[in-house]
Amino acid sequence: MSKIQVMDTSLANKIAAGEVVEKTMNVVKELVENSIDAKASVIKIELIDSGVKEIKVVDDGIGMDENDAVLAFSRHATSKLKTLDDLFNINSLGFRGEALPSIASVSNILLKTSDGKTGTIVSLEGGIVKEVKSGDIKRGTTIIVSNLFYNTPVRLKYLKSLYTELANITDYVNKMALSYPNIKFILINNGKELLNTSGNGDLLKTILNIYGNIVASKMMYIESENDDYMINGYISYPELTKSNRTSMTLLVNNRVVKNNEIIKTILEAFHTYIPKDRCPYIVLNIEVDPFLVDVNVHPTKMEVKFSKIDSLQSLIYETITNKLNEKTLIPKVMNEFVEDNYYKDTKETNFFVNDNLYENEEKKELVEKKQVEEITFDFDTFSTKEEIKDDEVVIQEDSRIKNMYPIGIVHGTYIICENDHGMFIIDQHAAAERINYEKYYHALSTHSKNTIDVLIPYQIELTSNEYLILEKNFHILDRLGFKYEEFGSNTIIIRTHPTWIPKYAPLEAIMKIIDIIILNEDFDEDKFNEKVSITLACKMSIKAGDVITMPDMTYLIEELRKTKNPFTCPHGRPTIIAYTKYDLEKLFKRAM
Ligand code: ZN
Ligand code: ZN
Repeated sequence: MSKIQVMDTSLANKIAAGEVVEKTMNVVKELVENSIDAKASVIKIELIDSGVKEIKVVDDGIGMDENDAVLAFSRHATSKLKTLDDLFNINSLGFRGEALPSIASVSNILLKTSDGKTGTIVSLEGGIVKEVKSGDIKRGTTIIVSNLFYNTPVRLKYLKSLYTELANITDYVNKMALSYPNIKFILINNGKELLNTSGNGDLLKTILNIYGNIVASKMMYIESENDDYMINGYISYPELTKSNRTSMTLLVNNRVVKNNEIIKTILEAFHTYIPKDRCPYIVLNIEVDPFLVDVNVHPTKMEVKFSKIDSLQSLIYETITNKLNEKTLIPKVMNEFVEDNYYKDTKETNFFVNDNLYENEEKKELVEKKQVEEITFDFDTFSTKEEIKDDEVVIQEDSRIKNMYPIGIVHGTYIICENDHGMFIIDQHAAAERINYEKYYHALSTHSKNTIDVLIPYQIELTSNEYLILEKNFHILDRLGFKYEEFGSNTIIIRTHPTWIPKYAPLEAIMKIIDIIILNEDFDEDKFNEKVSITLACKMSIKAGDVITMPDMTYLIEELRKTKNPFTCPHGRPTIIAYTKYDLEKLFKRAM
């Protein structure tokens, strides 16, 4: 029976053909998804000039018979979906429509396909079938789309943005590889291999193929569920970040989607663990009943909406924060060294989203070799293994930098410490900031009502505009435990303040809080607490260069040890870095 069916016209109208093919990325997407629909286990994408000259997709899927091969290019024919309802069923890939005829109309196409019984070759020019003949019967489909946009003005535009287009295609193929770890994806542009995944079904292995060894060795598995949703996937250690969101992949029932609310939740979970403008690496799969998901019908977008989004957001938030809290997250200097060399040419100037793009063969071999040890390395069960190297203990042990004592200080800022495992360097400002941040945040969020009456009341004068805003927000001052009076025009007097206000500069701290109230009128309570805690922690903590004594250092380390996250300051900078004993031995070539 023919697998291709003629689509009903209301659906055809819903999907505007022109939009589907306005980018080479969309052509690649269409062809790759056809291959996936054909149950391919290997999909090879070969591009010439980012696909503008030629896109060749070869798969080993179920192929087509002669009838389907010709019908595939006639308008309103599709094997993918039959009714509008199918558009909403996220279980099937197909919510695109008549893309193939549209692609054919602006290019030359050569299709070779075989269902294993008959082989067919169809060639088209500008959508017109030129020739149909029989071909070999090796199962699978090869489609070559050449001279894309040759008969439209769009082509010129693309010649200018080949790099952007390639970056988009790479990002797309990477994400498809992450959603189908059991399919082998090969992506080549102008003879250069950009991606080659194993297709063995192991998601971590696919992460390694895409992002490289360093990233793969610093991913943590997460898994969790509630009544409505099940999530699983990998998140990176906070020390591993990227300046844009291409490192974040969201899957719903193993299909790549976009959803800004979920991205926001993930970033919130990483908040204070990583710098504000950075993104973690994450591959998160959300398993859900398709009835709880609404897919945007636009064929080229992958936006989804979730009902019960709150339930999903809290599940994701809690799962990630729990994972981050249970790990010891001190960046290791030796890794930093490697990383710097590794990513030397992939800084912000690089067009390509794939950090791994320009790896030479040597590095690739290294990756293959190293991954065997590193990938199978399971931190959670590690302690049961017999042989434990010193440096691994540091990562494994969750003793919160135990038994660490100061040796001295460098540049009036970096405290050198040691314990049995190695040498550590602590940034005194970042450490103090973390300690104070958690202290303030705790006091604020538990509504601590301990207050102090001041001997000489503080008189604070504001501009009339500022005063008006403050007046509207007096309830915030009440909530914090301040006692105050209005005094003349635009002036208030503070008689009592909460005890957590730093004793050595209370007026400065109070002014900061009032500033925050005035500047950020519409904060919810939690955001306000957060903002106050970070601002005060930064302003009120010892600075780089401030002189501190040995007992001060000991106290600082001890206090840092007690924090929930001793490893980063509230802005996401590291507080502490480690040279393990093993690192030192390696650096001095005592150990190899
Ligand atoms: Zn600071
Ligand atoms: Zn900071």
